[in-house]
Formats: sequence, structure tokens, C-alpha cells
Amino acid sequence: MSDSTQPIIFFDMDGTLLDLAFDDLIWNTKLPERHAETYQCSLEQSHSILSDFYQQHKHTLSWYSSTYWTEKVGVDVLQLQYDFKDKIAPRIGCFELLKSLQQQGYRCWLLTNADCAGLKLKLENVDLSPYFEVMISSEEIGYSKEFVEFWQILQTKHFFDPQNACLVDDTAPVLNGAAKFGIAHLVTITQPSSLRAPRHALELEFPAINDLTELLPILEQIQNKDVDVKTA
Ligand SMILES: [Mg+2]
Repeated sequence: MSDSTQPIIFFDMDGTLLDLAFDDLIWNTKLPERHAETYQCSLEQSHSILSDFYQQHKHTLSWYSSTYWTEKVGVDVLQLQYDFKDKIAPRIGCFELLKSLQQQGYRCWLLTNADCAGLKLKLENVDLSPYFEVMISSEEIGYSKEFVEFWQILQTKHFFDPQNACLVDDTAPVLNGAAKFGIAHLVTITQPSSLRAPRHALELEFPAINDLTELLPILEQIQNKDVDVKTA
């Protein structure tokens, strides 16, 4: 079923395969609420304390670590996510795409900046595992996906050819990190969270899809181009 011209496909999890609405709910609403309850302060105070933390740690490994947040903020952030796990949901076209890729023999890897505990929680609630030959948390790598080092270390653990790889990810700094490393095909998502307005495809730096099945024609194009190059 598979053929050697098929690119390997790397998928981000939150905001790409899964609706970022869950993470927005946890970090922007529930964490400030629980923080305010815990410290008996106003919600405004909690929002301002937390947003300072967010600004300091954005795009670092600490940012993605529930252990770090639990220590730093004094609220059990992992427990908080478990309390609202019913809200974890796939994005539009998620399973349709994954089933179709599996039928066509594509190799798919799940690469997430969520920590190992966060990855486990998501997989317990949305059954993504059957579609992936590799599933990696950046916590295991020691760098978040924004860094070239993530891709270098990943490649030593699980070999792949960056020239024949496609990354789908909703975060521009991650796509830029992957581009620096040399991943040839990069695709982003117009509406990572169903609770927020979609971003305009024209304003994004990378080709963008919303329904995940829109990736299928892009993959066809990639392979046709490769054939053109090889036969030219
Ligand atoms: Mg994401």
C-alpha cells in the first residue's frame, strides 16, 4: 500500500489534531479560578500573576511542564486537566484524515510539546495511538519543538529524511524551528481553538488548512512535484 515517495508526516497534537479549546479553558479560565481560590485573592490578581509567568516561559520546556507549573503556581495543574478531561476533543477531520493516511500506508508520527503526563491524558481520552508509529513528547527530547536541537535529537533516535517529511503544526515558532532544521513541507492550521476566531490564511507564513482532510490534496501535490523533479 505504501510507496517510497510518500513523505513521512509529523503531527502536532494540541491545536492541530485536538481542539485547543481544552487548553485555553484550562490555562486561561480554570487555572486562574483555582489559583484565586487557593490563595484567596481576586481573579484579576490571579490573571495578572499568571500572565507574568506565561510571558516569562512561553516556548520553553518549562512552559509545557505540568510539574513545573504545579511547583511554581501551587495549583495541581495536571489534576485540573483531569477534572475537565471530558472537554478534550479532536479537531474537524482528525479521524477521517488519520484513517485515510493509514489506509494509504503513510507513516505518521505524533510530536508534541505537551509533557509525558499531558500526552498520556490526551491519549486516554482521544484514541490517537493506533495511527502513529512514533509518539514523542519534547520532554523526552530535552528541547521543545521550537529549537533545531529537538529535530536533531529526534533524528538520532528515530531516523527520517527531512527532505521527504511534512509537519502539520498550529504554532509558527515551531514551524520556523522545523524549517531551520530543513523539514521540507510545512502546513499550519487556521483555527486551532474552536473558541477563537479563525486566523486568515493569507496572513499566515505557511500554507494553512482548517478541516484536517484538506491535507490530502496537499500531500498529492507534494508527491507529484517530487515525481516531476525526478523525471525532469
Ligand atoms: Mg499545537
